[in-house]
Parts: sequence; structure tokens; C-alpha cells
Amino acid sequence: MPADALATDTTTMLTCQSCGMPIETGPYCDHCTDEAGNLQSFDERFRRMALWQQKSHPTDSPEQVEKATLEYMAQLPAWREHPRVVAR
Ligand SMILES: [Zn+2]
Repeated sequence: MPADALATDTTTMLTCQSCGMPIETGPYCDHCTDEAGNLQSFDERFRRMALWQQKSHPTDSPEQVEKATLEYMAQLPAWREHPRVVAR
């Protein structure tokens, strides 16, 4: 692989480092921060993402929803180092 292969994937589009949603200014979108602009806790984000996951996959069991949610969070810079994600 050429040394610059990874660098060619640059884009002007920013994405939220907590949920992956496109944003205009970073690092996080409005949904992932509190009133003061601070990133919400892992538990709060996990709860909301699991709800979203459940809605998208209504037939999945709670275990499947939790696993899929952790897999998704493992791709996000804000959460991929979190103990819950690392231990999944
Ligand atoms: Zn977000």
C-alpha cells in the first residue's frame, strides 16, 4: 500500500466524534453535548444509542442491541478507548 493511501481519504466533511453524524463545527454535535457544550457521559450516550439501535432493529434481543451498540461506539473516536467498549 502506498504510504499516502490513508491521507487520500481526507474530506472537508466533519463528523461528530461521539456519534458519527455530519457536523459543521467539531468535535461534537448538539445531541452529544450538554447545555455547557461538554460531551455527555458514556452511560447517557450508550443509553440513547441503544434506544436508536432498538428502533432500527425492533426484532433484536436486548443482548444483540447492546452488542451492536458497542460495536458502533468502537468506531467513534470519543468512545473507542472506553473500558466498556474495549471489554466488549
Ligand atoms: Zn454526536
